[in-house]
Amino acid sequence: GLRDCLPHLHVGDAFGTLGSATLSDAFGDDVERPEAPERDVATREELIEILSGHATLMDSDEGSQTPWAPWSLRYSGHQFGTWAGQLGDGRAISILATPHPDDPELIYELQLKGAGRTPFSRTADGLAVVRSSIREFLCGEAMHALGIPTTRSLSLISLPATEVARERVESACILTRMAPSFLRIGSFEALNPPANMFFFGGGQQNGDWDALLKLGEWVSKRVLRLDGIANGEAWGKKLVLEVARRNARMVAGWQAYGFMHGVINTDNVSILGLTIDYGPFAFMDVFDQYHICNHTDDGGRYAYNQQPSMIMYALRSLLTTLAPLIGAEAEIGGKALDAGWAKDVPKEKMDEWRQKGTELAKEEMEVTMQQTCADEYGRLMHKRLALRRLDSDDESNLARPLLDLMGDHRLDFHATFRRLAYFRPSMLEETNKAALDQFIAGTLSLTPDTDRLERDRATNDLKGWLEVYASRILSERELWGADVDAEREAASKSANPRFVLRQWVLEEVIKAVESDASSGKRMLRKVLEMACRPFDPWGAEDAMDEDSLDKEIKEE
Ligand code: AMP
Ligand code: MG
Ligand code: MG
Repeated sequence: GLRDCLPHLHVGDAFGTLGSATLSDAFGDDVERPEAPERDVATREELIEILSGHATLMDSDEGSQTPWAPWSLRYSGHQFGTWAGQLGDGRAISILATPHPDDPELIYELQLKGAGRTPFSRTADGLAVVRSSIREFLCGEAMHALGIPTTRSLSLISLPATEVARERVESACILTRMAPSFLRIGSFEALNPPANMFFFGGGQQNGDWDALLKLGEWVSKRVLRLDGIANGEAWGKKLVLEVARRNARMVAGWQAYGFMHGVINTDNVSILGLTIDYGPFAFMDVFDQYHICNHTDDGGRYAYNQQPSMIMYALRSLLTTLAPLIGAEAEIGGKALDAGWAKDVPKEKMDEWRQKGTELAKEEMEVTMQQTCADEYGRLMHKRLALRRLDSDDESNLARPLLDLMGDHRLDFHATFRRLAYFRPSMLEETNKAALDQFIAGTLSLTPDTDRLERDRATNDLKGWLEVYASRILSERELWGADVDAEREAASKSANPRFVLRQWVLEEVIKAVESDASSGKRMLRKVLEMACRPFDPWGAEDAMDEDSLDKEIKEE
């Protein structure tokens, strides 16, 4: 199925250009080679060859010498709201699409990022540097551990002998990532570019309709696995709604966990609703809803509070691309279209279908996106507040006021949530005043030189919020077991990470790897472990400060 679909996507046979690098370049001299039978060692070395772009995967049939031809897929997209034509994929090469071991219907694709030029690299080198590869490698796993849909990281191979010319000369690195599909909204847009873009070879009447049909049908059946499509039902509108639902859940996860992507161009929005293409991303530190993590994003288009709207923008682009098809499907009674359907369709007819398709799906898509996003965000914030009963006013009474409070008093987003695990409603009893004062001072990080006025204001605000929170907690006491406090504490800790992949952590890992490969690798491994188990009590948990985390990272 995949191979059938590929020729329509302007597939280029990719070839790595890393001729000068060798296996020991790739791993340095301190490769730890496990004691293993001869055959396994050979397999491991083969694997390194393959994942470093030096060898091609062979078909697994006994004695077969058929290589799996690596491939790259071109895509287009809207960048910062402007149509940018064909721009990708100049540096990702897929090497294998294989069924998931537990679910033969689910395909997993392995992709090398930074393994050299592809037919779509234009003038660029197709390579990636160590710092950006480490960032994507760690964050893919960190997001997964937080329960946010994402592409996954499989391996990271540095190639010190391969020089990459950026602002300074750096060495190359290859990331292998995995996902059921790396298709983006931009992959669809490439097949039906917006009108009036003659410079980019656009003009909507020139859409490659057969290619869109093949791609959409394949994605609906094999990637999204939508119901009913196999029986010849129309898939256009269903596909758009499913992509909307999935991306809505993803962006709700971003908002709830303070993740900022930084470049939500339509080519960076996955058809599967996975977080994809980690670039200038950041996790929120001090809460600021207007925070911009991408220093080239002057207007704040991709600021934290804009993320859901920017996902909506990308979804509208997908709908614009598929609208004529949805309109035509509707006209012939909900049946899937046949190949060649648009061959002789006059422009007027196509415009009519475009209009109809847009009318049919736009409102439903937007409502679906907004509703799904709000529900998922509500569910996650509820979890972060460690509540059991879902009240419709929890968001307006608790979640939003807490964020306002963090913004007003410059509190750390993640540390504040984690600290709530230690809150006890009993702290509000007159006899426990000292415990409450201590909890508040710790949460606000008050020091002797905190401005008096600000200290009083912040203390009052937090105390007021804690009163609402305490009575809300007490109102659902009967939903918990005998030791409510201990249970709530555990629930809170399992929803609020102690470890967050913040910028300073990434910077330390990158610096360590760049200055000394073997100790850097140990630190990388330690941080990966922490990112994979973010809810564990890393560092001196009660201290809740950076120093104790930093110490734990460095002690390794
Ligand atoms: P990004 O802005 O990182 O999402 O990249 C978008 C597209 O730019 C990629 O899909 C590539 O086609 C292209 N690109 C970025 N960096 C390189 C590079 N070093 N070599 C070739 N193409 C690149
Ligand atoms: Mg990208
Ligand atoms: Mg990128």
